[in-house]
Amino acid sequence: MPHVTLPREILPADGRFGCGPSKIRAEHLAALAGPGAALLGTSHRQAPVKDLVGQVRAGLAELFRLPAGYEIILGNGGSTAFWDAAAFGLIERRSQNLVFGEFGGKFAAAARAPWLEAPDVREVAAGTRTVAEPVEGVDVYAWPHNETSTGVAAPVERVHADAGALTVIDATSAAGGIDFSVHDADVYYFAPQKNLGSDGGLWFAAVSPAAIERIERIAASGRYIPEFLSLKNALDNARLNQTLNTPALTTLYLLDRQVDWIRDHGGLQWADARTRESSSALYAWAEASSFATPFVADPADRSPVVVTIDFDEGVDAAAVAKSLRANGIVDTEPYRKLGRNQLRVATFVSIDPEDVRQLIRSIDYTVERL
Ligand SMILES: *Cc1c(COP(=O)(O)O)cnc(C)c1O
Repeated sequence: MPHVTLPREILPADGRFGCGPSKIRAEHLAALAGPGAALLGTSHRQAPVKDLVGQVRAGLAELFRLPAGYEIILGNGGSTAFWDAAAFGLIERRSQNLVFGEFGGKFAAAARAPWLEAPDVREVAAGTRTVAEPVEGVDVYAWPHNETSTGVAAPVERVHADAGALTVIDATSAAGGIDFSVHDADVYYFAPQKNLGSDGGLWFAAVSPAAIERIERIAASGRYIPEFLSLKNALDNARLNQTLNTPALTTLYLLDRQVDWIRDHGGLQWADARTRESSSALYAWAEASSFATPFVADPADRSPVVVTIDFDEGVDAAAVAKSLRANGIVDTEPYRKLGRNQLRVATFVSIDPEDVRQLIRSIDYTVERL
């Protein structure tokens, strides 16, 4: 099918609207090639790289306004590795997993480990969400802050349940783009290739004193834990500004630049206002449009960082995404397994709200002519 050629004046300056890996700011890539280049190809056991890890930990602690006693820990393998690490070293007996999309579902699957009791899985239809319910015997309550596969955001709220029960939040696509109070979470974990505008491969977590105590206790309990997935090992190494094995230095460097950039502009509050400006433009456009509707019916559940827009039968969203791609506007396709006639647009903090407005003009232009 031929694509629609978009006029230059309605093209976004940067055409990256994907949900991860996502847009990395040109200034940060330039810094990587400039001052950052001296770090690449040097030992992660020497001071320059350890100092970078320390700077990232301190920067994240400041960005999230960590209370005394909370720490930033990190390891290799991204958020997917963190799920397995949590099954080994964070869930004591049983978790409750809220599932309202693919990513919440993946943690629930990892929590079905033979040494744990079957998780209490609360699954609801894509495009909606549910809330945690205190249950006796559950020691981890888990859900995503932002469900990237559907564009549903769920607030971070502490679950008041059994003494010592932990609230564990997958913040992979939310961290750095949605404001929240870390006092309400024991573990706020993420990978940095989404709002944090870096590359993939690592996981980071802000952990509370209660979470640290849990990690120490399970590690000392005699449970078999592979070293690569040991949170105790990650904690001990993080305190020395190290990881068990070689981390991606590029990812660390770009993350440090992004955290600095957000803090320089006013921190999480600023980031939150910026992602809301971008996402509101898309939601308002879809609500007014004759062919598009926000997928998430309840406005309170609509994500400020991942916007999902359903199209009427008369408009083929896949053809629109393909045509946009031919013009350099990439990754507006919906989450592959959702199977909807939909566009999904990241409105992460790196993405300029003006580029989102240009994207809207580009979609309208394309639909009119396709
Ligand atoms: C992208 C994503 C993940 C997976 O992250 P990886 O680093 O690829 O393992 C997990 N959870 C959420 C909410 C995500 O958006």
